[in-house]
Amino acid sequence: MSLIVQKYGGSSVADAESIKRVAKRIVETRKAGNDVVVAVSAMGDSTDELLDLAHQVTPIPAPRELDMLLTAGERISMALLAMSIRSMGHDARSFTGSQAGMITDARHGQARIVDVTPGRVRDALDEGAIAIVAGFQGFNRGTGDITTLGRGGSDTTAVALAAALDADVCEIYTDVDGIFTADPRVVPRARKIDRISSEEMLELAANGAKVLYIRAVEYARRHGVTLHVRSSFNNNEGTIVFNAPEPTAPDEASPDRENSESPVEEPLIAGVATDLSEAKITVVGVPDIPGKAAQIFNIVAKTGANIDMIVQNVSAAATGLTDISFTLPKSDGQTVLTALTVEQEDVGYRGLQYDDQIGKLALVGAGMRTNAGVSAKLFTALYEAGINIEMISTSEIRISVVTRADTVNDALRVVHTAFGLDADDEAVVHGGTGR
Ligand code: ADP
Ligand code: ASP
Ligand code: MG
Repeated sequence: MSLIVQKYGGSSVADAESIKRVAKRIVETRKAGNDVVVAVSAMGDSTDELLDLAHQVTPIPAPRELDMLLTAGERISMALLAMSIRSMGHDARSFTGSQAGMITDARHGQARIVDVTPGRVRDALDEGAIAIVAGFQGFNRGTGDITTLGRGGSDTTAVALAAALDADVCEIYTDVDGIFTADPRVVPRARKIDRISSEEMLELAANGAKVLYIRAVEYARRHGVTLHVRSSFNNNEGTIVFNAPEPTAPDEASPDRENSESPVEEPLIAGVATDLSEAKITVVGVPDIPGKAAQIFNIVAKTGANIDMIVQNVSAAATGLTDISFTLPKSDGQTVLTALTVEQEDVGYRGLQYDDQIGKLALVGAGMRTNAGVSAKLFTALYEAGINIEMISTSEIRISVVTRADTVNDALRVVHTAFGLDADDEAVVHGGTGR
């Protein structure tokens, strides 16, 4: 008998009919002789709708109350799903995050899981029931308050349960057939990937591919959980996210590599992701002397903002001044601008520019480690499409560029084609609104 953890995203439980369809699927898994634990998201776009509602009441909702509000979404879907399963003659019990033992730190809206104590889930399984757990939520012991794990956090709930219960599989059910080489809503000829390493998936998730939440991929990697991302609308095999052994340099690659978990022939490029949620701040006229970058980024760090790309220009010989640009989530933009303005005199820079009309594109592939010419091919494809590059940054397995926001989708399509990733057939998007 296997223990299977299944996560159903909002698009899979968008209405009563969908809930019944998912319930049937869960019952089938149970009838096949498995123990089943389900993590479920809020119905459809209801988390966004609750957020909109909060902002209609006040521009800056109190974080504790916002978490109280948002966790209601998952409470609705978990109860409906459990009822639906029970109506089919199977025992099912729903649990809130705190009842399921998802213990987090106290950071509302962005809480991290610090412990998982799924005693009640285990008891339910032992008594032959299916356990339905509300995704995206937890509980802080110190404050006694309910927390949320950040947008897309139900993926993390599922992975954390799979790790704590030592599940055999963790299946992430969504509205597309798996992980594709690009978002199939933007690139119709995106290709479904059969297997992807967690390090590549981490880069894609960090750069805007919301099909998996980055923290869930990190958690799965750390705890050795293998993920299977697939559609809840059919029975097709989806994408396996596997934890690869440490990469070996080509000259030491062992002959029995076929026996290791990663495929023998790794494709050069795993996929391309885009992100429209970032903005760019340029600190203009910074004295080009030691310590200034440290000073600026210490100010930024104190705001808690997550900095992504950083570019410092060569200073002008005549003035000894340079410009430093960096990207960050738009939601942190105002806070960081304010923090920098307060310290302007102390840092001695001339001014600040804020640009929230940028788009970021990231090309990801472990094969880049051993292949030259990837950047040249990327820049050529963008040049031929008349798309201007404003910033560039690279890691071992990723090249990112910043363009104007309104060109990033075109950029995505031309880059996808240039790297030979286009499939023969169009990808199917089964549901969801893409919000
Ligand atoms: P769920 O409601 O199941 O959590 P999400 O909307 O969070 O679903 O994630 C699924 C969506 O992610 C897809 O509908 C697709 O538009 C988007 N997406 C972005 N990048 C990719 C990718 N590389 N592969 C598959 N889907 C992607
Ligand atoms: N309902 C939450 C959200 O929309 C969590 C999730 O769906 O994973 O972000
Ligand atoms: Mg999601």
